[in-house]
Amino acid sequence: VFQLSVPLNFLGSVYRELRQSLLDMETLFNLQKVNIAVKDAPHAKPLELKGGEIVFENVTFGYHPDRPILRNVSFTIPAGKKTAIVGPSGCGKSTVLRLLFRFYDVHEGRILIDGQDIRDVTTESLRRAIGVVPQDTPLFNNTIEHNIQYGRISATAEEVLAASKRAKIHDIISSFPEGYQTMVGERGMMISGGEKQRLAVSRLLLKDPPLLFFDEATSALDTHTEQALLGNINSILKEKARTSVFVAHRLRTIYDSDQIIVLQNGAVAETPGSHEQLINSGGVYSSLWAVQETMPLETENGDGATTLR
Ligand code: ATP
Repeated sequence: VFQLSVPLNFLGSVYRELRQSLLDMETLFNLQKVNIAVKDAPHAKPLELKGGEIVFENVTFGYHPDRPILRNVSFTIPAGKKTAIVGPSGCGKSTVLRLLFRFYDVHEGRILIDGQDIRDVTTESLRRAIGVVPQDTPLFNNTIEHNIQYGRISATAEEVLAASKRAKIHDIISSFPEGYQTMVGERGMMISGGEKQRLAVSRLLLKDPPLLFFDEATSALDTHTEQALLGNINSILKEKARTSVFVAHRLRTIYDSDQIIVLQNGAVAETPGSHEQLINSGGVYSSLWAVQETMPLETENGDGATTLR
């Protein structure tokens, strides 16, 4: 009995962690609204991560058969680098992230992570490898501490504190009378959109996954706070050589990416490259940049008014 209880206890805690991370994903992506027809293949194996390279190979996908969102799309997101996906509203940027989580299967083509077709790996191992700051972060009816700790339930209070400092939210939390014990969520204190985003970033930093996705993660922040937070995120990503994908409207938040992919009308609009390369090639990106650069700074605060919409 004794011999058995040890591994069972261990399995129990692994199970709880897994359950938690799945709950996390489901809540974050509001799965009620998403049709999850995706099942593990009988031969599915756990994802084996090497550097975290992502390849879209001739991917065609649409939510409805008569309305394709991505048409024969191919690109590579290099391992350990920062990639941005930009393009007009509705062009399928968030869809790329949803496909990577395998909330849907592609209709044609394939998606590879470190050479493995994501349809051949267990969805559990796939989703455990990915962390996301979604467009709208749901909060749980609980304390701020718990809401951050949700990223990794085994994290200590010190680790929560360190993550929230890096996410530039510690000072605000400390200014609340009840600090980290402040209740948030529907029945708690209302926190602003920008505070929520930073809370989501601290949650993600705590989870510390190999692949990190940021979907308009700083859109509700003023330019100054946004730059400070992005600076912190960038240095963590660099230091750990993590693969990251940023979806953004405001080009100024992603121009320092190693690679920028421009999506338009269901296709990759021009050969991906760095900001400099895309500006020099004088294509879609450079005209978008020119338009945004002439917008007054004030309209950039708050709601992402300076966008590609
Ligand atoms: P934005 O910049 O506005 O967030 P996006 O480029 O991220 O847009 P997606 O969210 O990927 O765009 O959506 C691409 C298209 O697919 C949109 O026209 C959207 O209305 C549609 N779409 C998204 N989710 C679904 C769904 N679950 N069912 C049907 N259509 C959907």
